[in-house]
Amino acid sequence: MKTITIIVPCYNEQEVIHTFYQEVTKVIDKLSYDFELLFVNDGSRDKTLAEIITLRMKDKRVTYVDLSRNYGKEIAMGAGLDYASGDAVIIMDADLQDPPRLIPTMIEEWEEGYDDVYAKRTSRKGETFMKKFTSRCFYKLLSRLTRVDIQKDTGDFRLLSHKAVEALKSFRESQRYTKGLFSLIGFNKKEITFEREPRAAGTTKWNYWRLVGLAIEGITTFTISPLRIATFFGGITAIGALVYMIYIVVRTMVQGVDIPGYASIVSIMLFLGSIQLICMGILGEYVGRVFNETKNRPLYFINRHEGGNQ
Ligand code: UDP
Ligand code: MG
Repeated sequence: MKTITIIVPCYNEQEVIHTFYQEVTKVIDKLSYDFELLFVNDGSRDKTLAEIITLRMKDKRVTYVDLSRNYGKEIAMGAGLDYASGDAVIIMDADLQDPPRLIPTMIEEWEEGYDDVYAKRTSRKGETFMKKFTSRCFYKLLSRLTRVDIQKDTGDFRLLSHKAVEALKSFRESQRYTKGLFSLIGFNKKEITFEREPRAAGTTKWNYWRLVGLAIEGITTFTISPLRIATFFGGITAIGALVYMIYIVVRTMVQGVDIPGYASIVSIMLFLGSIQLICMGILGEYVGRVFNETKNRPLYFINRHEGGNQ
């Protein structure tokens, strides 16, 4: 029988782990596949790990990897992929926002030959207007800036074939933007849609800083077009400056020296100064990334694990 690994990154999810397990087993018990429920404990500070171990004592299909600290969902998923032993992998959130009822459909599509069956959400209940709005703006911006097509309104909830998993595992960059990687690897993709429910219990781990961070991450790890925009901006300012310079020189020759001009000098200085700072910031983002990647540090450390393929 084929084995399917369900990877579940968990960070402070003690309230939902048990419900999650029940809901998922309800679905998978009806299917004729072997399942592995691989929980990745991402340095939770609550009883998440204890809950997982309790589940493992009852059900050997439950395996886990306990990371040494909180690394963030992207790395947690990466660790999950490294330890998954199945012929296919399904990535799911622990909070039941990704409905387990889609699992059979995903598997069917995989059997049809698709490598990446992703779930697209048609509605996002329980999410604030601001979150939906900012996420829409971000997708727009990203698709403008990059050539890789990143799927809109799609989370990490998806089934990946062995081929796709191997491809993803070969990306060892420490600054990961997994959603982009899914697009980057290519392969046969299939979309299925669902309505996203609000979280079953517990609180969201996201805040705006994290989202802004992820957005910057997403753009800078994927494209260098901000650098090009900076160059372009510099070009425009240079042309503007040249025109203004010619104007000033001609005016001075015609009308003589014109001492006042404090306001214009100060505003030009401030304007150019800030443009320079912004461009340096953009440059810095990339230099920083180069620095981080060249260190070539291991992605994560684990405390211990039970089950899995290593
Ligand atoms: N998560 C994680 N590490 C983190 C933050 C989140 O493993 O540092 C997990 C979390 O436990 C959940 C999933 O990532 O299973 C999605 O998190 P959350 O539900 O908070 O995000 P949202 O659904 O609000 O985007
Ligand atoms: Mg959630």
